[in-house]
Amino acid sequence: RHWEKQVRSSAQISRFHGMSVLVTGAAGFVGSHVALALKKRGDGVVGVDNFNNYYDPSLKNARRDLLQSHNVFIVEGDINDARVLAKLFDVVAFTHVMHLAAQAGVRYAMENPHSYVNSNIAGLVTLLEQCKSADPQPAVVWASSSSVYGLNEKTPFSESDRTDQPASLYAATKKAGEAITHTYNHIYGLSITGLRFFTVYGPWGRPDMAYFSFTQDIRQGKPITIYRGKNRVDLARDFTYIDDIVKGCVAALDSSGKSTGSGGKKRGPAPYRIYNLGNTAPVTVPTMVSLLEKYLKKKARKHVVTMLGNGDVPFTHANISLAQRELGYKPTTDLATGLKKFVRWYVSYYIEDHGMPVYD
Ligand code: NAD
Repeated sequence: RHWEKQVRSSAQISRFHGMSVLVTGAAGFVGSHVALALKKRGDGVVGVDNFNNYYDPSLKNARRDLLQSHNVFIVEGDINDARVLAKLFDVVAFTHVMHLAAQAGVRYAMENPHSYVNSNIAGLVTLLEQCKSADPQPAVVWASSSSVYGLNEKTPFSESDRTDQPASLYAATKKAGEAITHTYNHIYGLSITGLRFFTVYGPWGRPDMAYFSFTQDIRQGKPITIYRGKNRVDLARDFTYIDDIVKGCVAALDSSGKSTGSGGKKRGPAPYRIYNLGNTAPVTVPTMVSLLEKYLKKKARKHVVTMLGNGDVPFTHANISLAQRELGYKPTTDLATGLKKFVRWYVSYYIEDHGMPVYD
């Protein structure tokens, strides 16, 4: 009963034409930001997350507390548990699902392959089964990944480029997710939008990602390992600031359910779309490290090694013209500005007083 009351209250829409959105992975980095942005503009939002210990669960708990203070409730449950999902859809007629729960990380897959299959493939299917039979059917927007481009060497990466050479099991499960979502669109008429995020970073980020763990290690005077590719080429990433990603997610939710061309809601076949959400400005890892050194006012102890098939790809670079044209997506934060904000958050959260926000 208590659970139901909290879910209902969290799902309350406070603006005309608001949506009720189920955000999976809401205690995660991207999920917590998206959930809060939607709530702030008046949408009803309910989260679900299994609070796994892939990285420091206390960070997930802190995100949950922050969301709770904005009346966003996160149900603790697994997307692979059909009963949890059925219960949620029983209580709320979700108009949209923002699916961000996944087992992320490229190298972790070598020791934990099944975790990727369970969350990114089986969990996705469990969620889509629920969505397909829900009345009304929610429009689904979900996170794929730039990693699907794998060993593709043609840059920048466009949505129509080949994605048949994944370099990690993580990438393979995201690629599988694109194929699986397509079938649910094709057979059951679910509206599906897949977003290929490019290396997302920012406040409340993921401690397993390089910019975050480097920050920790540089501060503590520990050596950092910088990988580089064959022929001593630096790795480069199209680092994309969290606020830009959030804007892209919200725009995708707003345009989902509309079949392109007709302009009307649910006219014609349900749309199946895939968009790159990147920054279109790749930066090398050593340059990223030098920015961290500058903001932390401390030199890194660098240990440079040549990577040998550990799942990383040499570079990523998004062509975002499709998202620009169809979603009005336009990233505005460069890496220097975004990392400065991250370091400010990091210092306030971990060093000063576990102090909060920096969410805006
Ligand atoms: P994250 O790990 O911070 O968030 C994922 C959340 O999902 C976590 O809180 C986790 O506890 C939860 N979760 C995992 N498996 C679950 C399950 N089976 N049931 C319920 N909850 C589960 O990661 P993130 O960086 O916020 O990533 C969000 C999404 O974006 C993921 O799908 C990820 O693959 C994708 N993505 C992220 C990046 C990036 O750079 N951060 C890049 C490309 C794609």
